[in-house]
Amino acid sequence: MVWLKRDLRLSDHEPIFRAIEAGLPIFLFYSFEPDITMNADWSDFHEHFIYDSLLDMELRLRDHKKRLYVFEETIEDLVVKLKQKFEIVNVFSHEEVGNSISYDRDLRLKAFFEYSSINWIECELNGVMRGLQNRKSWNSKFLAKLKVREYDFNLNDLNTVNISNFEMAQLMLEFKNLSFKQIKPFVKIDFSEVLQGGETIARAFMKSFFHGRFQNYNKHISKPGLAEESCSRLAPYLSWGNLSLKQVFSAYQYKYNASEDSWEKRNLSAFKSRLFWRSHFIQKFESECEMEFMNQNPAFNCIRTEENHELIESFENGMTGFPLVDASMRCLRATGYINFRMRAMLASFFTHILWQDWRCIADHLARVFLDYEPGIHYPQLQMQAGTTGVNTIRIYNPFLQSERQDAEAKFIKKWVPELQDTPVELVHKLRKSGEQSLFFNNYLDPIVDYESSYRKAKEDLWAVKKSPEAKSYKQKILDMHVQG
Ligand SMILES: Cc1cc2nc3c(=O)[nH]c(=O)nc-3n(C[C@H](O)[C@H](O)[C@H](O)COP(=O)(O)OP(=O)(O)OC[C@H]3O[C@@H](n4cnc5c(N)ncnc54)[C@H](O)[C@@H]3O)c2cc1C
Repeated sequence: MVWLKRDLRLSDHEPIFRAIEAGLPIFLFYSFEPDITMNADWSDFHEHFIYDSLLDMELRLRDHKKRLYVFEETIEDLVVKLKQKFEIVNVFSHEEVGNSISYDRDLRLKAFFEYSSINWIECELNGVMRGLQNRKSWNSKFLAKLKVREYDFNLNDLNTVNISNFEMAQLMLEFKNLSFKQIKPFVKIDFSEVLQGGETIARAFMKSFFHGRFQNYNKHISKPGLAEESCSRLAPYLSWGNLSLKQVFSAYQYKYNASEDSWEKRNLSAFKSRLFWRSHFIQKFESECEMEFMNQNPAFNCIRTEENHELIESFENGMTGFPLVDASMRCLRATGYINFRMRAMLASFFTHILWQDWRCIADHLARVFLDYEPGIHYPQLQMQAGTTGVNTIRIYNPFLQSERQDAEAKFIKKWVPELQDTPVELVHKLRKSGEQSLFFNNYLDPIVDYESSYRKAKEDLWAVKKSPEAKSYKQKILDMHVQG
């Protein structure tokens, strides 16, 4: 069996490669596992993206008369049912750095496969290493992994097991019909919508980035209205595995070596750094998965102890009365994307200005991020919330951000149409209820007072950060995560 997870592609795929090498017929499958799809961090965005990706694979496999199966079953149930018909020798999959549900599932499966005398062969993903105690030689090991050849194969060599739908029904397996969606024969790059999943379109995005979009990478990366085209937009394709890290890294390297222009090289280097951060964050989470639920630095447990549901709801719905915050949240809900700077500002606004715990927004943001990757999501959220105690505390000022990153207020006016007719200078200055709000037709008054919230957050955060307790945890955190 080859169990597909966050690796939905038919190239540079070590589990498929190894299964072909093993020489036995291959049962290639994906399962929408109920435990995972019912969890609060799952959303339609993710499900549709996965469907697109599976459909793309299915179409290519069909051309070669090969089969891919898609289920809604737990892996244990699936294996038990399939064992009625087949002898299962090996299960090949990638290692997953997922949420606690996939972690617990993996522990259960390890015991289950052992008990069932099935070999479970797991392959590393994204250069992330299991069981690391610290980062002493992480950099060099990680770089070496990027140089290993890609695990490519010929689709004709994929000897897939073919079971008819009738036989599948007899095994009582719920078998998802992939063709429920209209098959999209054209690859259409459209930044204004939720991106379509699949290896084919992933490659088109990568090509369009390295063929020109990257030219304004550094200039536009923090600007919400421009980053959508000048940044790579490869995150969902990496998160769901339509592209492997190695594939993106080799495309970067090819372009970098071919370029003689220092401006181009600077843009490409900035992109490469972020690609490395990606694995750095996932590695951090792999080594300390408690970060999904607990403050990385427990000294911060004493702050943000009161949940305010009204504030949380206003934030989730993009109804805070802070134009750039609302525009970013509404954009996210509609497209599944917002650039890094706005994500950082949103997390900062929620935790510092609304003074709410990062755990109260983690699931909502996971659902609206099309590129949701637990290994980046939780460490980033905690970093922006200041609960690591090792990073500089940054409280983003949404008014300054709006002046600097959306000077003409085009992005804001697109997503907050209530401000359509408001003069730009006023959009950037909207702070208090009172006479200014006369200019803002139907737009809300800010739900909190910015200045006093900012002052309080700064005082409270610094008081904890400077405490002996926070400092005592700091060293342990640095020892575990700082790269050597
Ligand atoms: C609170 C918060 C939560 C986030 N959650 C996620 C998440 O769930 N999934 C996710 O992929 N990114 C996450 N990010 C990181 C970043 O915002 C996105 O990766 C980036 O905006 C995606 O756009 P892009 O593909 O155009 O990236 P590019 O700027 O083109 O960067 C290239 C690739 O590098 C990686 N990358 C970029 N920035 C970062 C970063 N700061 N940290 C780690 N990796 C990075 C991504 O894989 C990205 O595709 C989060 C950031 C914050 C502040």
